[in-house]
Amino acid sequence: MKFISTTPNEERVSFRTAVLNGLTENGALYFPEEIPQLPSSFFENIENLSDHEIAFRALKPYVKEDLSDEDLQWILEDAINFATPVEHIKKDTYVLELFHGPTESFKDVGARFMSRCLSRFEKKSDKEITILVATSGDTGSAVASGFFDVDGVNVKILFPKDKVSPYQERQMTSLGKNIKAIEVDGTFDDCQRMVKQAFNDSELRKQVELTSANSINLARLLPQMIYYFLAYKQMKKNLDGKSLVVSIPSGNLGNASAGILAKHMGLPIKRFIAAHNANDTFTDYLKTGEYKAKPSVLTFSNAMDVGNPSNYERLAHLYNKDLKAMSGHISAATISDEETVQEMKDTIKETGYLLDPHGAVGKLALERSLESDEVGIFVETAHPNKFQDIIVKAVPDHVIKETSLDGFHKLSMDNNYDQLRKILLEE
Ligand SMILES: *Cc1c(COP(=O)(O)O)cnc(C)c1O
Repeated sequence: MKFISTTPNEERVSFRTAVLNGLTENGALYFPEEIPQLPSSFFENIENLSDHEIAFRALKPYVKEDLSDEDLQWILEDAINFATPVEHIKKDTYVLELFHGPTESFKDVGARFMSRCLSRFEKKSDKEITILVATSGDTGSAVASGFFDVDGVNVKILFPKDKVSPYQERQMTSLGKNIKAIEVDGTFDDCQRMVKQAFNDSELRKQVELTSANSINLARLLPQMIYYFLAYKQMKKNLDGKSLVVSIPSGNLGNASAGILAKHMGLPIKRFIAAHNANDTFTDYLKTGEYKAKPSVLTFSNAMDVGNPSNYERLAHLYNKDLKAMSGHISAATISDEETVQEMKDTIKETGYLLDPHGAVGKLALERSLESDEVGIFVETAHPNKFQDIIVKAVPDHVIKETSLDGFHKLSMDNNYDQLRKILLEE
């Protein structure tokens, strides 16, 4: 299996090269040249397969040139060592909980998978690898935890000052060692732009072996398919002839792209909903057919405060910008902060389930769209404890568990690429 650029050029590379490069030579994203199909017998029999076997079958076609069966098995068992359960909420509404990993968001899946891939790739030079990521919160904590103390890997995390929750900031800055968290006096989009600029800086890249660990990286994206297969395995018995719909709280659309990719491999999910907050670039795109990036705005669901979703490029490539075909598989919704908090209040009152603000966006978008012949899952992308400030707005008497993390290892910089360049060259 080879990977090509979403902006077509001559490049055709293996999984390993795509992962180490992060972005393509022409500054676009890697995408599988063709999408492998799983046979219908796989889905007919899925409830009899172990979770690791399902994950193995889904990922093997993508990685087999660079990872042996034993390596892939080890990576999956070591990286995905926590549950991704589907729980019943009410009637035809279920939740897929993706917060049972060490930093309590779905990003643990991709970050842990990627760090273990890097450790199993054949070394072609002795140079240390620098992982450079921009984060709106959870990527930073997942990458910090997933790559902590990995030999030969330095991690630099850019996060927007005062725009991540204190809990998230502690998770990123408490580790030290090979993990450097850098607060930027700017927005998430500024952080993401500077990361892109560093990757396009050929002089810098001669001196520093840069790799991205953002959701643009294939090693983050591909393993995120796994939990949609596992969700189907768990849901199959509840469908009763109805079709399955999945609502995904979305920012950069990485999680949604992974779901769509799984669907194209044959997974029987009828359609997806990209549930957005006020950052409605993708909602507008599906309405108008015109993609217009916007400045990001701050909301209660801060991990989705993205004005220029990077994985839009992958969806546009996959559907060849055919809006009708894309809309058949994925719709979008925009949910306001007021609606988010109201949904958290209503849900705990009605069902006893405590939503995090991202999950609340996903649930409301699902319930507004679900038809009578459909069963819906919304994704809980992070644990509510990560968003204390917002939880108390909805559920004032909720007690948040204290985190034991302390100690701060944090650098600060202006919204200025030259400063970032200097930091990267220092080590
Ligand atoms: C990162 C994140 C999202 C957005 O995921 P994308 O793949 O960027 O669309 C949603 N919710 C939470 C809690 C996140 O951390």
